[in-house]
Amino acid sequence: MFFEFAIMDFIDILLVAALLYYFYRLMKESGTISIFTGVLVFIVLWIFVTRVLEMRLLGSIFDQMMSVGVLALIIIFQEEIKRFFKTLGSHRHFRKISDLFSKNGEKKDDKSTMLPIVMACMSLSQQKVGALIIIERNESLDEYMQAGEKIDANINQRLIENIFFKNSPLHDGALIVQNNRLMAASCILPVSHELNIPKKLGLRHRAALGVSQETDAIAIIVSEETGAISVAHNGKFKLGLTAQQLESILVH
Ligand code: ATP
Ligand code: MG
Repeated sequence: MFFEFAIMDFIDILLVAALLYYFYRLMKESGTISIFTGVLVFIVLWIFVTRVLEMRLLGSIFDQMMSVGVLALIIIFQEEIKRFFKTLGSHRHFRKISDLFSKNGEKKDDKSTMLPIVMACMSLSQQKVGALIIIERNESLDEYMQAGEKIDANINQRLIENIFFKNSPLHDGALIVQNNRLMAASCILPVSHELNIPKKLGLRHRAALGVSQETDAIAIIVSEETGAISVAHNGKFKLGLTAQQLESILVH
C-alpha cells in the first residue's frame, strides 16, 4: 500500500513529540531555549535543502556541519544531557534499578539523627540566623567538601547553631551532612542559573537549588532575611516550611 500508517508509527511519533517537549522544557528551565530553537530551525532547513530541494552542494556542506554539530551540541548541552539522564535514572519507576547499583540502596535517615537538624533549623529561624545544610543521599558530595573545612562530628543541635552564628569563622557557605555525621562546613556549592525563581531569593537559595539539581541531596535553607525554612530537592523548592513539614521531608 502507498500509505501505510501502522500503530507503531503512531507510537513512534508520539514518543518523538514527548521527547522534543521534554527537551524543550529542560532548555527553557536552563535558559538555553534560543539555542534549542536555533538547532530546530537548522534541522528543518537541512531536511528542506537535502530532501525537498535536493541541492547537492549546499546539502553536503550542511551534512558536514551536522556531523560536527552533533559533537558541538553534546558539548554545549552537557549539563542538560547530564540532568536528563539523572532525572530519568532517579524517576521513581526506575529507582529500584539504580538502587541495585548503589552501595547500600536508598539511604534512609532515621528520626533520631534528623531531629537535631530540625531543632537547630527552628532555633536559627527564630533568631533569623542564615544557614545552609546539605544532606547527602546516594550521590557523593565529596567534590563540594574539598573547598570547605572538615569537621567530622556527630550530629548535634548546639554545634550546628554554633557553626552558623554570625561571628563564627565557619558560618559562611554550606554545612554538609554525610553518613549521619556533620562532615564539613563553609563549603561552596554550584549556584543554579534557573530563571524562574522568585527575585527575593538570593545566592544561598540558588546554591541550595544548584546542588539539588546536580545531585540527589536534600538542601535546607534558613533565611537570614525572613527566618523562613525552605528545602531544595531534585531541582525544586519547598518554601516556608514548618518543623513538622521539614521533619517529614527528612525522615521518609
Ligand atoms: P537570605 O534569605 O538568608 O538572605 P539569600 O538566598 O537571599 O538568603 P544571600 O543573602 O545572597 O542569599 O546569602 C548569602 C550567603 O549565602 C553567603 O553569606 C553565603 O554564606 C551563602 N552562599 C552564597 N553563595 C554560596 C555558594 N555558592 N555556596 C554556599 N553558600 C553560599
Ligand atoms: Mg539575602
